[in-house]
Amino acid sequence: MSESQPQRQFAVEVVRKLRDAGFVALWAGGCVRDLLLGKLPEDYDVATDARPEQVQQLFGHRKTRAVGASFGVILIHGSNRGAGDVEVATFRTEGVYLDGRRPESVAFCSPEEDAQRRDFTINGMFYDPVAETVLDFVDGQRDLAAGVIRAIGDPRARFNEDKLRMLRAVRFTATLAFQIDVPTADAVRDLAPEMLVVSQERISQELKRMLVHRNRRLAIELARDVRLLEVILPELTRVVESEHWSVTLTMLELLGQPSFELAMATLLHSVSPENPHVVRGICRRLKLSNDETEHITRLVTERQVLFDAPHLPLSKLKRFWTSTQPRCRDFIEINRVESLATSGSLSAVEFCERYLRDTPESEINPPPLVTGNDLVRRGFKPGPNFKQLLDQIRDAQLDGRIATPDEAWALIQQLQGGSGDAKNP
Ligand code: ATP
Ligand code: MG
Repeated sequence: MSESQPQRQFAVEVVRKLRDAGFVALWAGGCVRDLLLGKLPEDYDVATDARPEQVQQLFGHRKTRAVGASFGVILIHGSNRGAGDVEVATFRTEGVYLDGRRPESVAFCSPEEDAQRRDFTINGMFYDPVAETVLDFVDGQRDLAAGVIRAIGDPRARFNEDKLRMLRAVRFTATLAFQIDVPTADAVRDLAPEMLVVSQERISQELKRMLVHRNRRLAIELARDVRLLEVILPELTRVVESEHWSVTLTMLELLGQPSFELAMATLLHSVSPENPHVVRGICRRLKLSNDETEHITRLVTERQVLFDAPHLPLSKLKRFWTSTQPRCRDFIEINRVESLATSGSLSAVEFCERYLRDTPESEINPPPLVTGNDLVRRGFKPGPNFKQLLDQIRDAQLDGRIATPDEAWALIQQLQGGSGDAKNP
C-alpha cells in the first residue's frame, strides 16, 4: 500500500495528531481487515481514548462534525482533495440492546473492551499505522488466514443485540468467499425470523451490497441456507423450492457488473412476472426509491418483450427502446443471462445488440411527422380517437411506411375513411 494514497495519508495524520496530543489512536475495524487482505480500504476508521469533545477541540469545530455524538463518533474532514473524511470514534462498550437494533447507552473504555463490541473477529482488530503493528485481541488474524467469519463472543447473544449482524455475516462470508463458522451460522438460522425488527432500509442496504458484488450467487445461496432469504424475501419461497431456482442462481452468477436493480430483477424474475403489483410491492416494502422500484418492476415484467425481438414490428421495438432509455441495455443483459442459463438461443439478444449498435437514435426516436398541435390546427377536436390516430401515424412512421408530413396527412385521410376534411374524429 503506498503512502501516496491521500486518504491513507490523511488517516495517518489524524492518528499522529491524536498521539502528539497524548492520546491513544489506532486504525480500527474494516480498514484493518482490508489492509491485512492486501486490499485498499474504502475508508479509514480511527479509534481513540480521546473523548468526542476532545477530538473536536483538537481538530477544530470547522473541520469536524459530530455524527453519532451519543456514540462518540466525530467525522474529520480531510483538507486535501481526495483525502476524504476519517471517522474518529472513542473506544466504547455498549450497554444493553433493548430493541435488537441499537444500545441503550455507551461507556468509554479500553481498546480490548472496544474490540468485544464489534461484530466479527476479522472486523475486531486495530492497526498502529506509525509502528505498523496489528493489535488483535480477538484472534482476527487467525480467522482471516483461515477464511472464517466468526462472531466475537457468543454468536446468539451478539445477534440478539443487533439483528442486522446476521445479514452482515452473510455479506462478509460471501463477498470474501470465506466460510461461516458453524456456531455462528447456527445462531443465524435460529434467530433469522427476528431479522425483521431491523428497518427495511438497513436490510435493503445490505442486500444491495451483496447483489452488486460478483459473489452474489454465494450470498443468496448462503442467505437461503441460514433461512434469512425466506424472511426478507418470502415471495421467493415458491421459486426456491422449484426447479427454476438453479436457473435463477446461474443467471445471478452470469451477470457482468450489474446495477443493483438489474441483479435484484434477476433474483425476482420468476416471481409472478405477469403481475407488476407483486414486484412493486416487494420493492416498496424494502423502501427502495421510486426509480429503483420502477426499473426493477419493468425488468421483471417486460423483459419478455425482447424474447422475440427479431420478429417484432419495428414500431414496437423502437417504442420499447425509447421507453426504456437510458437503461435499455439492462433488458438485453437479463435476456442474455436467462438465455444462457436455460441454454436457449442467444439470437434475439445478438439481434438487439446489433440493432442498437447500428441504429442511430434519430431513427429509433425520430421527431414525429405530425403532432397533436398539427391536428388541432387543422380543426381536429381532441377526443378519444385523437390519441389513437396519433399512435397509428407514429407506428407507420416507426415502421418506415411513411417518411414525410405529406404522407402522414394522406394516411390520416385514409384512416378517416377518405373524407378529406373530417374535423371531428
Ligand atoms: P464495509 O465498510 O465493507 O461494510 P466495515 O467492516 O468497514 O466493512 P462498517 O459498517 O464500515 O463495516 O463498520 C466499521 C466497523 O464497525 C466494522 O469493521 C466493525 O468493527 C464495526 N461494526 C459495524 N457495524 C457493526 C455492527 N452492526 N455490530 C458490531 N460492530 C459493527
Ligand atoms: Mg467501512
